[in-house]
Amino acid sequence: MKESNIRNFSIIAHIDHGKSTLADRIMEQTKTIRPSANNDQILDDMQVEQAHGVTVKSRTVRNLYTADNHQSYEFNFIDTPGHVDFNYEVEKSLAASDGVILLVDATQGIQAQTVANYRLAKKAGIKIMPVINKIDSQNAQVEQTINQLVALDPSFKAEAILKISAKKGIGVHEVLEAIVHEIPAPTGQLNAPLKALVFDSTYDNFNGVIASVRIIDGQVSQNDKLVLMMNQQTFTAKEVGFFQPDRVATKTLAAGDVGYIVTGIKDAKEVNIGDTVTTQIDGCTKPLPGYQPAEPMVFAGIFPQGDYQDFKAAITKLALNDSALQLTPETSDALGPGFRGGFLGVFHLQIIKERLKTEFNVDVLTTAPNVTYQVKTINDPQPVMISNPVQMPNFEQIEWIKEPIVMITITTNNESLSDVMRLAVQHKGTFMDMQNQGQLVEVVYAIPLSEIAYHFFNQLKSISHGYASFSTEFSGYELADVVKVTIQINYAQVDELTFITHRVDAPEQTQKIVHKLKYTVPRRLYPMPAQATVEGRVIARVDIPPLRKNAAVNGNQYSVSKKQALLRRQSINKRQATKSDIQLPQSVFNSLLDLD
Ligand code: GDP
Ligand code: MG
Repeated sequence: MKESNIRNFSIIAHIDHGKSTLADRIMEQTKTIRPSANNDQILDDMQVEQAHGVTVKSRTVRNLYTADNHQSYEFNFIDTPGHVDFNYEVEKSLAASDGVILLVDATQGIQAQTVANYRLAKKAGIKIMPVINKIDSQNAQVEQTINQLVALDPSFKAEAILKISAKKGIGVHEVLEAIVHEIPAPTGQLNAPLKALVFDSTYDNFNGVIASVRIIDGQVSQNDKLVLMMNQQTFTAKEVGFFQPDRVATKTLAAGDVGYIVTGIKDAKEVNIGDTVTTQIDGCTKPLPGYQPAEPMVFAGIFPQGDYQDFKAAITKLALNDSALQLTPETSDALGPGFRGGFLGVFHLQIIKERLKTEFNVDVLTTAPNVTYQVKTINDPQPVMISNPVQMPNFEQIEWIKEPIVMITITTNNESLSDVMRLAVQHKGTFMDMQNQGQLVEVVYAIPLSEIAYHFFNQLKSISHGYASFSTEFSGYELADVVKVTIQINYAQVDELTFITHRVDAPEQTQKIVHKLKYTVPRRLYPMPAQATVEGRVIARVDIPPLRKNAAVNGNQYSVSKKQALLRRQSINKRQATKSDIQLPQSVFNSLLDLD
C-alpha cells in the first residue's frame, strides 16, 4: 500500500475504559474478523488477561478499511495495556505510531492513567485524537467529560470530540473516518536503505525471536540478509508479515508498514526493544535513537514448589516473551534453587506468578517483594545497588542508604480527598502539588517506592470507594533511615525472610511477623524461639510452642509436681540449630505477604 494510505496508531486509555472493546469493533467493521456476539476483547487471549479482564501485552493488528471517499486504507493499530505497571508497553507502542486514540470512559471521566498516557503521547510528539466512550451507559456524563478533556488540553475542540459506544458499535464509523483524516500518514523513504524499529518481540522454539517492527525507510523481504545495529548481530529474515490478528506472511514490508520479521535468533537477549534493523549490505548508517530499557522496580525470590527443571523451563520461556522481566539464579537454604526476579511492579509479579500456573501448570512460591537500595559503605568509594536484602552490608559498615522515590499523582474526587491525603502522609508522602480538574482533584506526592509497592493500591481503592486512581514516575534516590531485619527460628537465620524496612516501622512490623510465625511454622517436640533482629539487637520474639508429649505424664503414677517437672524439662530446648533445617511451608510466606 502506498504510504499516503497507511495509518499507524495506538489506542490508549485508563484501565477498563474500553480499548480492547474498541479494537474488537474496528476489526469487525474493517472485516478483519467476522462480526459475532462473542467478540469480547478478543485480543486479550492470554488466560491471565481473561481472568483479570485487563490487557497485559500490547497487540498489533493490520486492517483494511474502505473509506467513504472509496479509497482503501491500511490501518495498523496497537491495543495497549492500561495498568500503571505496564506503561512501558504503551511507550513501546507509541514509538511505532503516528497518532493515538485517547479513549475516556464517560461514566468515570478522566482518570490518572488517562493523564499519564496523554503525557506519554505528548512526549512522543504524535497526534492525539480524544474519543469519549460508553455513551450508551445510564451513568454517562458526556458534557463533563468533554470539559475535562478541554481542560487537559485546550487544543482539543469540544465540538470535534467523538462520542461513541464501543460496546454497541455506535460512532465507530466516525472514528474510522477521523483516523483517515486526522492521523498523519507515514513519510518514510521507500528508496532509502532499510531502517526498521524493533518495538516489541515474542519468542517461540521453532522460529526463535519474532520481532515486531515499524518500517521507517526502505523495505524488507523474506531471505534478506539483515543486521541488528546495537550488537551487530546478523541474521536472515526467515519470514516477514503482519498480524491480522494471527501472523500472515507476505512478500515484502515497505516504508510505513507495521509488521513482523521472523529472525530465527535463538538468544532472546540479542534482540533488544528499540533496536534498529537494516540490511547487511548498503544498510543505513545511523540507527534510530532507541529508548531506555524497562527498569525493574520491585524484586522478589521465586522458587518452584515442584520440579526445578520444569519450573526453570517455564520461567525462562516467559522471560523470552516479557522483556521487562529480569531473572538471576539464586539458591536458598530453605527453598532450594530458584531465581531472583525483577518486576515492573507488584501487579507484574502477580501476573507472572499466575501465568506460570495457568500456562505452564507450575506452582511457585515468592518471597516478600522489595525495592533496590543504593548503599555507601565505609570501605567502598562507590555506592552499590542492593536488590536482595540478604546482600545488604552489615550496619557497622554502612555510611548511608538511599531509597527510590517516585512522584505519585493521585486523581480523586472532593469527597475522598482528605482520606486520600491522610493515606499518602501515612505512607511517608511529601506533599508537592494540588490541581483541580473539573470535579476531580489531582494531588502529587513524593513518596518512597517501597511504601506504594505492596498494599497502597488496594488501600487507595477502598478509602476512595473505587474512585481514586494513580500514576507514578520515578524521581530519584534519596537518603533514608532504613534497616535490615533478619529473622531467626530456633536461633538459625532464615535468609528468605530477611527484609529491609524504615527504622520507625520495624518494631510494629516485626511484632506482627513473629506472631504470624508462631502460628505458621511447623512445631517441633521442643519450643523454638522466633525472633527478629535489627543491628544486632533482638527487637521482637515469641516462642513457638512445642508439640507436647503429654503421654509421658499420663496416668496417676506421677504426682502433680513430678508432671510439672517433666514438662519443664521437656520445655528446655537443648537443640539450638546452627543452620536452618526448618521446612517453611507456603503458608509462612503467604502470611508474611499480607501483613497489615
Ligand atoms: P480496556 O481495559 O480499556 O481494554 O477495557 P475493555 O475493552 O476490556 O472494557 C472494559 C469493560 O468496559 C468491559 O466490561 C466492556 O464490556 C465495557 N465496555 C467497553 N466499552 C463499552 C461501552 O461502550 N459501553 C458500555 N456500557 N460498556 C463498555
Ligand atoms: Mg484492554
